[in-house]
Amino acid sequence: MKKSIKNYDLDDLKKEMMAIGEKPFRAEQIFKWLYQDNVTSFEEMTNLSLDLRRRLEENYILGLFKIVHKLESIDGTKKYLLDVQDEEHNMIEAVLMQYHHGYTICVSSQIGCKMGCKFCASTGIPFVRNLEVGEIIEQILTIQRDEKITISNIVFMGIGEPLDNFDHLMKAIAIINHPKGLHIGARHISISTSGIVPKIYELADKQIQCTLSISLHAASNSIRSSMMPINQTYPIETLMEACQYYIKKTNKRISFEYALAKDNNDNIEDAKALVNLLKGMLAHVNLIPINPIEKGIYTKSTNENIIKFRDYLNNHGIITTIRRELGTDINAACGQLRKQNMKE
Ligand code: SF4
Repeated sequence: MKKSIKNYDLDDLKKEMMAIGEKPFRAEQIFKWLYQDNVTSFEEMTNLSLDLRRRLEENYILGLFKIVHKLESIDGTKKYLLDVQDEEHNMIEAVLMQYHHGYTICVSSQIGCKMGCKFCASTGIPFVRNLEVGEIIEQILTIQRDEKITISNIVFMGIGEPLDNFDHLMKAIAIINHPKGLHIGARHISISTSGIVPKIYELADKQIQCTLSISLHAASNSIRSSMMPINQTYPIETLMEACQYYIKKTNKRISFEYALAKDNNDNIEDAKALVNLLKGMLAHVNLIPINPIEKGIYTKSTNENIIKFRDYLNNHGIITTIRRELGTDINAACGQLRKQNMKE
């Protein structure tokens, strides 16, 4: 079976080239064609010999995706449903957002998710598999080709738990980072996790300069466990110890995501508990007005409550912002488009 050439980071691709009797610099040439020129065939790699192009064609695939749906919001956010073109024609989602500082893409890391967060559209659909390295990268390349743009920021916040696909995530980041790859600095990459504690330690030890976002959503174990089953395995105290370790190792601020759901975690008592949990920590809180999902149990907080919550945190020394709501008219919350398509 042919392998995706985008599953290899530069060092591995050099080894692949040497194994077929080619010089290692061929890997650098191929890397440039793949990630900087974003070609859709081996034939276009014109500085490689015809013989090498033929051998690449015989042994590898480029792992291109098919765009199944593309929805565009009135605010410019574009949501893609992508067929990864495997045997089962599995689908994933990626979202393109435009900010004043450039284009940001939210990418998926798995086909489905095992975490079962109660507010997430991916919950209730069986987990299928981890995305391969090339499939993580191809989301970026597909959208760059489709929109004829260069993406400057990447957030791992789409379908799946990125730290549950740790090795592929690390290789994908190496390709995204590499000057001969997509050349996007680690500071422009955010990894969002529901809180897989051992992997937070592992990530900290790697000392890559990505931003870590923790999906916290509650400062008490009872509320958090009711929203996120992972809290029963790694309760808040254990998670916070890992966060402190991450900050100590990387000297980087952690972003805590907090989805506000009406009468669930959005009153001033909840804000007080959050202040107590995060005070003195190198942290930022990002409040997310919850994006209601079909048959979901949560509804969005009122604007008044969201503002009160933010002001309470800011007034008590916790830097807090409210995430701009993008793409609500196209169901931009992760998993919704895929779920709808599966039903159809
Ligand atoms: S919110 Fe993220 S981690 Fe939780 S179920 Fe959805 S995709 Fe998985």
